[in-house]
Amino acid sequence: MKSYDVLIVGAGILGLSTAYHLQRENPSMAIAVIDKGTPGSGNTSRSVTMLRDTFASDVSIALAGSSIGFYKGLQEGGTDIGPENMMYLWLFNDSQYAKNRSALEVMHAKGIQIEEIAADELQRKVPSLCLDPTRISDDAATMGLPPITCGILGKNCYSVDPLRIVDYYRSAFIKLGGEVYSNVFMEDFLVVSY
Ligand SMILES: Cc1cc2nc3c(=O)[nH]c(=O)nc-3n(C[C@H](O)[C@H](O)[C@H](O)COP(=O)(O)OP(=O)(O)OC[C@H]3O[C@@H](n4cnc5c(N)ncnc54)[C@H](O)[C@@H]3O)c2cc1C
Repeated sequence: MKSYDVLIVGAGILGLSTAYHLQRENPSMAIAVIDKGTPGSGNTSRSVTMLRDTFASDVSIALAGSSIGFYKGLQEGGTDIGPENMMYLWLFNDSQYAKNRSALEVMHAKGIQIEEIAADELQRKVPSLCLDPTRISDDAATMGLPPITCGILGKNCYSVDPLRIVDYYRSAFIKLGGEVYSNVFMEDFLVVSY
């Protein structure tokens, strides 16, 4: 029976990217990825695959920033992962804005590309947007929905093609010597302490 140093269960974006980076850092390690279906056939293929760097914690900023950088590098290096600069728009009422204000200040201080848009400017940019839900539904008043007073636009945000990324990680991992097996179901595992 063949044995491996590392067996990764699940050939989604997490399993394959982990396998690729682990193999790249440890060329002599024997690593295999198994999946009960085919690579990317789980949530990864259902994802909209929006990437954003609009976070306030150092860990999330580092993870999001390095991922976006990695994917930009792939595209510039000739691997087409279908990127589109999409932008994110969050709509806040006064109390939501107040709650998120310190996080927004951190993002500004850390150079995250966000723009705060006041309600009148938001309405000018998106005329079809209803900023006051009470104007279109009695239920809005019953539910106590306050008007939107501010928009936060995240600019360094992209959408990419999830299956192209899966395919990149799968083939790059195999090129490094890794193995990927489809239609292999992991039924159980044993935890052994040494
Ligand atoms: C509709 C939708 C939209 C989304 N939009 C976004 C978005 O815009 N941006 C974003 O960042 N995230 C988004 N996500 C979330 C994102 O898709 C997931 O976080 C990501 O795909 C998780 O990757 P994964 O590799 O952990 O899981 P998966 O892709 O689900 O991979 C797990 C794999 O494990 C395999 N598996 C499971 N059990 C076993 C077993 N016992 N034996 C063998 N194989 C097994 C499955 O077949 C599967 O292929 C979205 C998700 C959905 C559903």
